[in-house]
Amino acid sequence: MRRTSRVPSSPLTVPSGSLASVLERNTRLHGSRPALLAADRDALTHGQLWDHVAQGVRDLNHLGLGRGDRVALALPQGADLALAFLTVAAGATAVPLNPASSASEFERLFQDLRPRALILAAGDASEARRVADASGVPVLDLTPGTEPGSPPRWTGTRQALKGAGGFAGADDVALVLYTSGTTARPKRVPLTHANLLASLHAIGETLQLGPDDRCLNVMPLFHIHGLVACLLASLGAGGSTACTGAFDPARFTADLDRWKPTWYSAVPTIHQAILSRTDTAAGSRVPSSLRLIRSSSAALPPPVMERLEAVFGVPVLEAYGMTEAAHQMACNPLPPRVRKPGSVGLAAGPEVAVLGASGERLPAGVHGEVGIRGPNVTRGYENLPEGAPDGFTHGWFRTGDQGFLDADGYLFLTGRLKELINRGGEKIAPREVDEVLLHCPGVAQAVAFAVPHASLGEDVAAAVVPRPGADLQEAAVREFAFEHLPAFKIPSRILIVDQLP
Ligand code: AMP
Repeated sequence: MRRTSRVPSSPLTVPSGSLASVLERNTRLHGSRPALLAADRDALTHGQLWDHVAQGVRDLNHLGLGRGDRVALALPQGADLALAFLTVAAGATAVPLNPASSASEFERLFQDLRPRALILAAGDASEARRVADASGVPVLDLTPGTEPGSPPRWTGTRQALKGAGGFAGADDVALVLYTSGTTARPKRVPLTHANLLASLHAIGETLQLGPDDRCLNVMPLFHIHGLVACLLASLGAGGSTACTGAFDPARFTADLDRWKPTWYSAVPTIHQAILSRTDTAAGSRVPSSLRLIRSSSAALPPPVMERLEAVFGVPVLEAYGMTEAAHQMACNPLPPRVRKPGSVGLAAGPEVAVLGASGERLPAGVHGEVGIRGPNVTRGYENLPEGAPDGFTHGWFRTGDQGFLDADGYLFLTGRLKELINRGGEKIAPREVDEVLLHCPGVAQAVAFAVPHASLGEDVAAAVVPRPGADLQEAAVREFAFEHLPAFKIPSRILIVDQLP
């Protein structure tokens, strides 16, 4: 039976240290100030956002979804996704997925996650819906409010509520994200409300965010960077976020004029795309309301930082983030403190140390593996294969990144121990690509690897060895990759070789 929920309001308890407590506090302190803005939706104040989230949690409970239930979201970028994420995280566990994932990716994700529901935009007829129907995952349709200020409607098959209803607490898992690791299978990272709150407060402190701050959100809200830095850190400070939809460099300066943001955060490839539009005349300055720019998720080349600062006339702060740390681990500070080009800055959230092979702390200047510990760090992966290392040594989570601390405590990253390709901030485990290519007809062996790329930093390439007697063409392997991998994981070069080096 399909039904539209609209459950009468009754007060729900708001546990301290939860996302709900942040949103509820904003209502009391900044109720009539803007919280979420978007071109295609009415602006929501903090008061309206809280009402919508609270009503949404009641509606989800009514449909049988409550605390601890994994609810996947495959919604287009924008304010509806931001609101849906906040609602699901406040009352259940949100698992935001890239809506552009391939059918086989959705199949794999649903099989691994076994979500209790998938949230889609009403009327969406995508692969996600087809795969959900075929895999027996109940779909909830989200319809935006029709009147100004009215809450969205959640429509779907009503299930029996398994656990508790109401708002999730500090130790409940608010968010689950997949991260590419050294295994062929992406690892599931659970993040509690306490993890998220620790990270959003750390980002707010580093950037000195307040209620007058507004972020121009150009990062996807299915990645930790967009979710925690752009959305949650803004709301955590009582400020606002302008949701722009999918990033379009051609629209960036118009968005600056329209939304008057005080900051934005992005991966270096987005900064470079912005510069390619704004950096036309040497020495030209783009006037804006920005007071800072943040960069994270991949190395920011110092010349890009320099050009950004020249074009926008504001400090550019490079930060170091990771899904397992609920995003921020280190960040360069605001002036008058020094920001060091090429460094990811000072510890800004968890404790950061450089560790030796047996987990001992190394002194300044000595290279080792970066370790973190603190309230923003995940309690551990959920779906590790039997016997696989859990990533922790003596309480330190080992990031798989290599670097050193200088005498002032600034962290410099110098390499990676983990097998990972960082394609402009999007992470790819080479073994995931190998696994797919090995299923391509005519392929005997396959190995994916990183190749340097001018703007992405790294790109994916692969070498494949044909089966004896097979007439293997690059085009056929490429087509197979297109069908089975999301666009960013498809090797840009595929070499057919007699044997692997
Ligand atoms: P993700 O979980 O997608 O945020 O990816 C985390 C990984 O991105 C880290 O372990 C680093 O390898 C890389 N990373 C994040 N920030 C930076 C940065 N500022 N410079 C270089 N690599 C970075």
